[in-house]
Amino acid sequence: MHEISLCEDIRTTLEEEAVKQNFNQVTKIWLDIGPLSCVEPEALRFGFDAVMRGSVAEGAALEIHAPKGDAYCLACHSKVQVTSRFDTCPNCGAAELQITGGDALKIRKLEVV
Ligand SMILES: [Zn+2]
Repeated sequence: MHEISLCEDIRTTLEEEAVKQNFNQVTKIWLDIGPLSCVEPEALRFGFDAVMRGSVAEGAALEIHAPKGDAYCLACHSKVQVTSRFDTCPNCGAAELQITGGDALKIRKLEVV
């Protein structure tokens, strides 16, 4: 499952940060999941607890944000915001959108002790 391996990536990042920043435990994590990242937030949340067990982030709260994605409309040449890969242009209704941002998953903030 895609989301499980993402959770494993997050765990690796957190373990590395714990050493670098010298903290013992992560109590809360804020994640940005771009609407175009193809990540299912619920599936991620589901896998998160299991994957974090035994790590510095065991029992950490997970806060998921879904920022809007950026796209460029090839039909009316405007920059627009989209919430999914299948959106059409909010200005002209065209489907010729070029996605320019919002496909990333990143850790925005950590609360540590
Ligand atoms: Zn357009």
